Amino acid sequence: MEKENVDQLMNLCSRRGIIIPSFKIYGELAGFYDYGPIGLSIKSNLKSIWRKTFVKGLGSLEIESTIVGSDKVYQASGHINTFTDPILKCTKCGSTYRADKLLEEFFEKQKNYDLAKKVGHMTSDELQELVSKYNISCPKCKGEFSKITAFNLMMKTEIGPTGGTIGYLRPETAQGIFVDFKELYKSYNFKLPIGIAQEGKVFRNEISPRQILIRMREFSQMELEYFFNPEKADELPLIENQKVNDEFLNKKIYLLTREDQEKGEEAKKVSLSEALELKLIPNKIFSYMIYKESLILDLFGINEDLTRFRILMADELPHYSKGNIDLEIKINGKYEEVAGNAYRSDFDLSNHSRMSNTDMAVLDGGKSVLPHVIEVSFGLDRLFWAVLSNNLYKDEKRGWEVLMLNKSIQPFQYAVYPLQKDDSLIQKSIEAQRILQEKGYNVFYKETGSIGKRYAKADEIGIGKCVTIDYNTLEDGTVTIRDISDASQVRVKLNDIGN
Ligand code: AMP
Repeated sequence: MEKENVDQLMNLCSRRGIIIPSFKIYGELAGFYDYGPIGLSIKSNLKSIWRKTFVKGLGSLEIESTIVGSDKVYQASGHINTFTDPILKCTKCGSTYRADKLLEEFFEKQKNYDLAKKVGHMTSDELQELVSKYNISCPKCKGEFSKITAFNLMMKTEIGPTGGTIGYLRPETAQGIFVDFKELYKSYNFKLPIGIAQEGKVFRNEISPRQILIRMREFSQMELEYFFNPEKADELPLIENQKVNDEFLNKKIYLLTREDQEKGEEAKKVSLSEALELKLIPNKIFSYMIYKESLILDLFGINEDLTRFRILMADELPHYSKGNIDLEIKINGKYEEVAGNAYRSDFDLSNHSRMSNTDMAVLDGGKSVLPHVIEVSFGLDRLFWAVLSNNLYKDEKRGWEVLMLNKSIQPFQYAVYPLQKDDSLIQKSIEAQRILQEKGYNVFYKETGSIGKRYAKADEIGIGKCVTIDYNTLEDGTVTIRDISDASQVRVKLNDIGN
């Protein structure tokens, strides 16, 4: 079976309503997508796996904070001043572009790959110099650009009937966690280290949304903020009262160091213990989070050969960072950041302490400590796209596409099909559905269309197995079970399905 490309995936998504451009009947607004029933089911399954691994699996707490945040929150977090991208505006047609991305494309077209790589790390002044030096003009109308300015990516709103009180749609779920930290500490009386997690919608007014779910204006994040005593960064938490076995450090990952990036080399496989010894990973807690990510990738059905952990270059780091490593997955031949791992030190808690006059320090072993934080921030839509784009195949033999998902991600584990629209077969099909549902499976049912077309639909939307009820079922109580992996069929007793 041959892997399909992103265009074919997009085609499948629109044919089967897996994702739909939002407000499509009114013309598209870039960067917004709705999930249809199949897409939503797959997305929810990804969320459940994350919850099992990063919430339950780490003994973390999960919260849900508001989407609208007060301007004080985002002043304290630094978003109001620094959450910006450089923007170029055409003086003739008014089109706007994210300056670094426009220059990257410009230099890629010129085959100047060296500069194409560098522009993402440049300051606005450096980008401006290149715009002048290379005489770069608007790709749409060749008009001249005005000077590069900083564009804040947060979406603003007004709170209350008279307006005047400014609010922001959250650009990340993290700040809700930091702001609630002390209240949670008091109410739940927890001890360090502790993870607090949140998933939900976030909003960024991206200048140039692109590639469907890769750069959106409204998207979902699954974030974990892991709070610990900075003097104990090498002490792992007890999980369900059990000590974490150090064997996890033997796990090998693809790691792309700064040196590799400077030399244009590929990521190399190294064990977490080696990476720690070489101080490529800041501490043991950080390495444990990376270990968890390497496990979760397997559950998501992403082959590790398509992944790498990239250590961010010094000029990509925010000033407070004590180390950032992105989890990148190849999508359509290009590595994309799917999760950001960041050692944020006490930056957020100390800023909120100062701004709100609330002491965010907590007691650890009798001493007052302002915890440090390691963040693991997954973009759910990018993850969804990575999973689908790497698991869609064309099967020449079957003559259609097959979405080969891990069992725990499949939108339905079973489809039940009566061979024909015949009352006696439909009755048996209802029985088959009941048996499967009682065993805890999600079941898809369809009685119209040829059985071949129904098998094709099941394969395209990633249904694991099809149970077909035919006239033999009425005689000997057996049904056909067909498996998505190889389209093989076996006959089993109706009561044994789902065992
Ligand atoms: P960040 O807070 O920028 O590190 O983002 C955390 C994660 O959110 C990234 O690793 C991406 O997976 C995801 N993400 C960030 N920006 C976008 C976007 N505009 N559209 C979709 N996903 C995004």
